[in-house]
Amino acid sequence: MPMQSARIHIAGIVQGVGFRPFVYNLAVRLDLKGWVRNTSAGVDIEVDGEQDVLDTFVKALRKEAPALSHIDELIASFGPANGFRSFEIIHSESIDSAFQPISPDVAVCDDCLRELFDPSDRRHRYPFINCTNCGPRFTIIKDIPYDRPKTTMAGFKLCPDCEREYTDPSNRRFHAQPVACPVCGPMVWLEKRNTPNAMDEDAIQETRRLLADGKIVAIKGLGGFHLACDATNAESVAELRRRKLRVDKPFALMILDLATIEEHCFVNGPERELLQSTARPIVLLRRKPESNICKEVAPSQEFIGVMLPYTPLHYLLLEKTDDFPPALVMTSGNLSEEPIAIDNDEARQRLSALADAFLMHNRDIHIRCDDSVVRVFEKEIYPIRRSRGYTPFPVKLPWEVPPLLAAGSELKNTFCITNKNYAFLSHHIGDMENYETLKSFEQGVEHFERLFRVKPEAIAYDLHPNYLATRYALERAERENLPAIRIQHHHAHIAACMAEHGLDGSQPVIGLSFDGTGYGEDGAIWGGEFLIADYKSYQRPYHLRYFPIPGGDASIKKPARTALALLWSLGMEWDERLASVIEFNKEERNILKIQLEKKINTPMTSSMGRLFDAAAALAGVRQIVNYEGQAAIEFEAMADPDDAESYSFELNQNEVEVRSGFESLINDVMSGIHASKISARFHNGLAKAVRMTVKKMNQETGIRTVVLSGGVWQNLTLIGRTLSLLRADGFTVYLHRQVPTNDGGLSLGQAVIAASRLRG
Ligand code: ZN
Ligand code: ZN
Ligand code: FE
Repeated sequence: MPMQSARIHIAGIVQGVGFRPFVYNLAVRLDLKGWVRNTSAGVDIEVDGEQDVLDTFVKALRKEAPALSHIDELIASFGPANGFRSFEIIHSESIDSAFQPISPDVAVCDDCLRELFDPSDRRHRYPFINCTNCGPRFTIIKDIPYDRPKTTMAGFKLCPDCEREYTDPSNRRFHAQPVACPVCGPMVWLEKRNTPNAMDEDAIQETRRLLADGKIVAIKGLGGFHLACDATNAESVAELRRRKLRVDKPFALMILDLATIEEHCFVNGPERELLQSTARPIVLLRRKPESNICKEVAPSQEFIGVMLPYTPLHYLLLEKTDDFPPALVMTSGNLSEEPIAIDNDEARQRLSALADAFLMHNRDIHIRCDDSVVRVFEKEIYPIRRSRGYTPFPVKLPWEVPPLLAAGSELKNTFCITNKNYAFLSHHIGDMENYETLKSFEQGVEHFERLFRVKPEAIAYDLHPNYLATRYALERAERENLPAIRIQHHHAHIAACMAEHGLDGSQPVIGLSFDGTGYGEDGAIWGGEFLIADYKSYQRPYHLRYFPIPGGDASIKKPARTALALLWSLGMEWDERLASVIEFNKEERNILKIQLEKKINTPMTSSMGRLFDAAAALAGVRQIVNYEGQAAIEFEAMADPDDAESYSFELNQNEVEVRSGFESLINDVMSGIHASKISARFHNGLAKAVRMTVKKMNQETGIRTVVLSGGVWQNLTLIGRTLSLLRADGFTVYLHRQVPTNDGGLSLGQAVIAASRLRG
């Protein structure tokens, strides 16, 4: 057969996942000659061979591709042979404006773990062991194409042994960019009061001693510093809370292995898979009553967030011995709501009052990336925070879009940039309420635009005039003379969920956007919205009844206030047998009443989140919260699964009216019904109200597709009950599976709405 040549272009996640070595070995196996290289658009291959062998080659590229790769596109064209004599990996090429996805960070693989604990291996107990199948990626990449000089490993010159492995195509570290060993790679050390105290193995052992002794240690990881302490030591955990100014928001845990996790938590099949996946997210698990992990880790919660170790250093730190705790608190290394510290000097400054010691290393983190948080609902992933291990894996869009930037909103913020069929959602930025977080947001945007070769043609932003992200978007749009596209918060939520399910938007959906806060077109705070939406626009035929929240933020922090305001607006009395009422003395109540009557700083809201706050407060669960959504979370946690009664809510014109429901709720409280029953009846009642409203919307429009989005849908009890009713009525219901239902997924929705408006 005559010799032919094949030119092949592959796009997708094909860099940093062992793709070129795979191509090399495949070509050698089939005796094909030619070359492979990375470009900023993907991987290019050119090979000479007989046609049938070339066909086999192309098929095998897809079929045998490395586990971590993800091929989106493979284009092959054939022509006359070039006369190549060997097969080579040639230097990478940067193509202007070309872009390609980048691999997320990958948990240490089993092969590397085996070597880590093999005394005869030259990387025995080396905390930075990695290979083509595992290790840091996103957090160390400064630019593409992905090659060592463009990572934070650039400063570490390979020793002869590592060089040999790096250049040997049969080696499993062939072209592994972060490859390193104790001779040539990064190292760890322990610092106390800015003074190095121990190095290498000694540093690890001293850290273990400190942790076992109840101390708090800042540990530099993959995407930032953690603050670690013994999770079975109530005093240490309480001390960490005190120093971190974190009253009772839950801490995440790291536990050495699955068997130990199962001693403390109930774990089902899909949860096990997620825990062990290469993304290694924090998985929310129901704790076992007999667990000795102290309650202070997650006060008043039945679920705790647990992850397995994901770096070699974690495995060394958590090694099982009799005197080492079975679980560590591993919470982000920051004070309260600041961004997680990533830089050594930054950590020394910002964390010195929080940590007794620092376990440092000298492999720089280029971009911060917090741990991801997920839970399982109906056997599938339900993301809460999408960051390390997932970022920057793109969401594939149903159609091609122009390059855009969506700035997100405020809480749990992410931004999103688009290019072609991809939406690149950022890592978790955090609550954009301070200068540090805004800085981190700006750096992130800059980094993503460079990495993915995006120059936005328009910027999408939230209606809220005071959000820092909104101000950034407007200022930048003006500076660069770009269109700024304003997008209503709850429309964006629904669009995000539509987009991740690949809905093309040709048919409108019924969108249930249940949320804490979001700026409405009328200046009110929305959040209990029943929308008819496509990507371009939406209508709002129904919403939760408006009620006042005196002081706005003051009410969010004190659900008792919201409760009293709701009662006032329903014309119901402030009975002193209610916990929310006696939360205020007579004078305070008088002031509150005047504030309500005169409408002094009293925004109106249709927020489902605030309705939950009011119900939880009136049921006596919680009058003051220490973090957003706390009352609702605790209220949900106690819902009696066997109570089938429900409060009734009605439709009054275009409002879901809650009066009779709250009358029944108050009656139950007065007659001493337990809060667990009140919670169940409230959830049941809301699910029924949703069913009733959706039915009505269906009668009016014929739409049979329902999309759920917004922070309130983190409430699995509400989701469960609502879904079963809607499915019984024959509706197709979509909920989030790739991005969070809270504001962490919002920027995706902004991006697709902006794209579709630009398309006209
Ligand atoms: Zn490995
Ligand atoms: Zn080396
Ligand atoms: Fe929201």
